[in-house]
Amino acid sequence: MNQYPATMMDFMDMFPNEEACLEYLSMVRWSNGYICLRCDSHSYWKKARGLFCCRDCGYECSVTAGTLFQDTHKPLRLWFQAIWYVVNQKNGVSAIGLQKAIGLGSYHTAWEWLHKLRRAMVRPGRDRLSGLVEMDETFIGGERSGKRGRGAEGKALVLIAAEETPAGIGRIRLSPIVDASSETLKEATLQMVEPSSTVKTDAWDAYNILTNHGYVHVPTSHKNAESGDATPLVHRVAALLKRWWLGTHQGAIRPEYLAYYLDEFTFRFNRRTSRSRGKLFYRLIQQALEISPVTAKTIITTSSR
Ligand SMILES: [Zn+2]
Repeated sequence: MNQYPATMMDFMDMFPNEEACLEYLSMVRWSNGYICLRCDSHSYWKKARGLFCCRDCGYECSVTAGTLFQDTHKPLRLWFQAIWYVVNQKNGVSAIGLQKAIGLGSYHTAWEWLHKLRRAMVRPGRDRLSGLVEMDETFIGGERSGKRGRGAEGKALVLIAAEETPAGIGRIRLSPIVDASSETLKEATLQMVEPSSTVKTDAWDAYNILTNHGYVHVPTSHKNAESGDATPLVHRVAALLKRWWLGTHQGAIRPEYLAYYLDEFTFRFNRRTSRSRGKLFYRLIQQALEISPVTAKTIITTSSR
């Protein structure tokens, strides 16, 4: 089996039925060979429908158990189509868009699936940015510009970190923040950027705290910056982020979901140069198999991570 489909035709050829989807999931999940969850044995036999049975202890494990696909009542083919659609949209996906594209009966299901997939877009324990990193905060949502250091109605404050590479912007990380105080900025920076990195910011005082936490902090006022902009890379990311927000989600921010929307943006942005959408498809399936099942209830009640 190919590792991933390269084109729509490939996709249709590779996944003609449930059996093929199950086969693909087991190839991705157990790419280094099947291991029994109970006794670590590598010896197994396959029962029907993606069920693996350990030859040593008899433990049965479904390829979807303990993953995002656990307990789904819908065909895996439909899930695969949803994932294929999601990775092929350059600018993000709305629930209504997904519903139409794959013909889901209910808007709510589409909404729920998208939320589940967003959770698979972040790899648990992903790396922090390192080297030369620009940081700045920006507001998204709402119409009027907000005041720095405080939240504003209907808006959300997001801290953007972008690696500076010879080719321009490297990887990015985004984090929702409650304010631009030094304590908040410090916490978010520790999550996103490796200490010992060089962090470039504008002259906002609150960033000065970074020097106490292992960062080399380089503040530049916009006035003194060569281009009149102390953090041009971050501002390019901010412009794209705002455009994406307006195009895909429109309007008011639901704070409880913001982190996941930002994860989706980051997932797409950091893979923007990946020529093969198929590789993204593989990656998203792989991460969906790595995360624990997400129930509708957790989506609705989770307010922070
Ligand atoms: Zn076993």
